[in-house]
Amino acid sequence: MMHWSLRRQGSWVQLAGHQGNFQLSEGGEVLKLYCEVEAKCLDSLMIDALRPFVPQYHGCVTRGEHCYIRLEDLLSGLRRPVIMDCKMGVRTYQEEEVAKTQTKATLRSDMYQKMVKVDPSAPSVEEHEQKAVTKSRYLQWRDTTSSTSTLGFRIEGVMMEDGSVQRDFRKILTLAKVTEAMLYFTRSQLDILKAYHSRLLALSEALKNSQFFRRHEVIGSSLLFVHDHSSKASVWMIDFGKTTSLPDRLELRHNIPWAEGSREDGYLIGLTSLIASLSQAISV
Ligand code: ATP
Ligand code: MG
Ligand code: MG
Repeated sequence: MMHWSLRRQGSWVQLAGHQGNFQLSEGGEVLKLYCEVEAKCLDSLMIDALRPFVPQYHGCVTRGEHCYIRLEDLLSGLRRPVIMDCKMGVRTYQEEEVAKTQTKATLRSDMYQKMVKVDPSAPSVEEHEQKAVTKSRYLQWRDTTSSTSTLGFRIEGVMMEDGSVQRDFRKILTLAKVTEAMLYFTRSQLDILKAYHSRLLALSEALKNSQFFRRHEVIGSSLLFVHDHSSKASVWMIDFGKTTSLPDRLELRHNIPWAEGSREDGYLIGLTSLIASLSQAISV
């Protein structure tokens, strides 16, 4: 008999994040490196209307020198799973990252170089002269190189049933291209597209009833799409490492663009785009 960890290793798939952040575990769980912000969110989510959309959270465990959060393995029981990670929201950086740079407003030549490498025409005349940009300028620009700032989400990566991983979807800018990606990812299987569509409609209902959602700024969180050949298809909310609770009484709408200080994340702009794209894919 093949050793359990080897067998499991073959089916462990991680589309984002550092490989070292995750460990396999027994009993249909994965271990993710402990982060206080994320653990706090998961605690609240387990008693929220969003619970059916979040992997079950079983608290923390220590392995060697590190602490991990124990999460339900969303790929457990699936054979040759096909998965897609969509990073949600109109921005992928926290407001405090911008605020910090505003007080210092230091010019960064490394970020200027990164910008020029992707798009030599992106910096302004002044930025070209300085050969530097501010960090906030860089962070904001970076989200315009994907569909993040316009559609409110981007496809981080896709893994097909043969195990091949594709990350070039990150550069997609239009809804039409997202729809193409959806058709490719599902191999145009109507039952799977429909299952994803209705799951997202159910999620948008649950978000309306979620106390957690009203009271949190959700940054860098993903929707993980998972299906296999048996036409089981589901979508899960994952990755709450940059999701923070709001100051007293502040509530977010999540469906309007971000303005500095508003803390709006545009999560629902992304969800609406995804639902629209799936509707298009279904009617092709
Ligand atoms: P980053 O912040 O760079 O996106 P991260 O270290 O916070 O990464 P996650 O985004 O939470 O990690 O997860 C990375 C990947 O691991 C996901 O894209 C997914 O492929 C896989 N993954 C995460 N959680 C689970 C889970 N509960 N079950 C199965 N796979 C998971
Ligand atoms: Mg992630
Ligand atoms: Mg993360």
